[in-house]
Amino acid sequence: ATETHQQPEVNIGLVGHVDHGKTTLVQALSGSWTDQHSEEMKRGISIRLGYADATFRKCPEVDEPEAFTVDETCPDGAESEVLRTVSFVDAPGHETLMATMLSGAALMDGAVLVVSATEDVPQAQTEEHLMALDIIGVENIVIAQNKIDLVDREQAVHNYQQIEEFVEGTVAEDAPIVPISAQQEVNMDLLIGAIEAEIPTPERDESNAARMFAARSFDINRPGTTWEDLNGGVVGGSLVDGTLEVGDDLELRPGREVEEEGQTEWRPITTEVRSLQAGGRSVDVARPGGLLGVGTGLDPALTKGDAIAGQVAGDPGTLPPTYESFEMGVELLDRVVGEEGEEIEEISTGEPLMLTVGTATTVGAVTSARSGECEVSLKRPVCAEAGDQIAINRRVGARWRLIGIGTLK
Ligand code: GDP
Ligand code: MG
Repeated sequence: ATETHQQPEVNIGLVGHVDHGKTTLVQALSGSWTDQHSEEMKRGISIRLGYADATFRKCPEVDEPEAFTVDETCPDGAESEVLRTVSFVDAPGHETLMATMLSGAALMDGAVLVVSATEDVPQAQTEEHLMALDIIGVENIVIAQNKIDLVDREQAVHNYQQIEEFVEGTVAEDAPIVPISAQQEVNMDLLIGAIEAEIPTPERDESNAARMFAARSFDINRPGTTWEDLNGGVVGGSLVDGTLEVGDDLELRPGREVEEEGQTEWRPITTEVRSLQAGGRSVDVARPGGLLGVGTGLDPALTKGDAIAGQVAGDPGTLPPTYESFEMGVELLDRVVGEEGEEIEEISTGEPLMLTVGTATTVGAVTSARSGECEVSLKRPVCAEAGDQIAINRRVGARWRLIGIGTLK
C-alpha cells in the first residue's frame, strides 16, 4: 500500500491551551501508521519538527460522515479510498513563548483549535493562539470541542455555547465546532469531514522557483561517526512554492555569519539537495505542502541545534533580500491578549521587540518610532519581502507578549 506513503499536501496546525488534547488528537488521527515511520531519519525529523502525517480516507459504500476514516479497512471489510495526506503541526504544549506558535503559524494552511469541554472558555492560550491565527491570516479553522467523554450533556452544551460566544467577531466566527473525544476516538469521522470541507489544499504553482521556510535543522549523525559515513546537515521545513529535486542546487538566506578583517557580515550559503524525506519515505521530488526534511551537502555543524531555523531556502538567485534593519508599518492590538484589560502603549525608540517574520524570530531594537510605523535594527538578519507580515512582541513582565502586527516596507 504505497498510497499510505503519499506526500502530504497541506499543513494543518494544532493549536489551543495546554492539556486540552492537541497531541492526543494528532495521535488518534495519525497513530494507525506511526509504525511505518520506523526509518531512522524520518523519525528524527518528525519528532523534532513536532509533526505527524495522517492520510484521510473514505469508505466507498458508507454515507457521510461515517464514511470518513484513517483506517485502510472499512467496518464492512471494503478497502477505503485515499482522499489526501495532511501534515499536522503540533504546537508544543508547555510553550509559553508566543514566537514558537507564530513561526509555526507561518507554515499553516489551516488550523484545528482544540478546546477542552471541561474548562471555561477561553483559557489563556486558547485566546492567544486564536489571535495569532488571526494576525498571521490563517482563516480556515475547525474547532474541536474535546474531552466530551468527561462531561455530561448539560456541561457539553454550556461549553459549546461559550465557544460560540468566544469566537464571535473573530477569524473563527464561522468555523464548525465538532464535539470529540480524542482519547476515546469519538467523532473522528465528523472531524475529518469538517477538515476536508474547511481546510482545502491551497492552489500552488509547481513551475515557480522553489521556496522553502526552514523550521528546524539538525545534525543526524551519531557521536563518533567517521568522516566517510558522515551525513550532511538536514534542514526541515515546508516547501511553499515550486518543487525540490535530489541533485538541485539550493541557496539558504541569510546564510552564515562570516568574519573578515574584524568585520562580520551575513552571506548566503549554496549547497545541493542530497536526499528528500516527505510523507514517511525518501522521495526524488518534493512537492509543495506538508513538511519535509532536506538532506544537504552542508557541514552538519552548520545545521546543528536548529541553527538554520528561520532561514529561507530555494533556487539560487531567486530568494528575497536579507535585511539587517527595516522599516515597518505598525498596527497595535487594543489590549494585551490574556492580560485583564492591560492597554498597549505606543512603541518607543530604544525598546527591544521580538519579531517573527515567516519562520524567523529575531530581537530588534527600535531605532526610531512614529505613530503607525517604526524602524528596527535586528540582532539577527532575516530573509524577507516587502509586504511580509511581522508579529510584534514586547516584554511584559517576565515574558514576551504579542502587541501588534507589522508590515515590512
Ligand atoms: P496537549 O497539551 O494539548 O497536547 O494535550 P495532551 O494531548 O497532552 O492531553 C493532555 C491530557 O488530556 C492527557 O492526559 C490526555 O490523555 C488527556 N486527554 C486528551 N484528550 C482527551 C479526551 O478526549 N478525553 C479524556 N478523558 N482525556 C483526554
Ligand atoms: Mg501536546
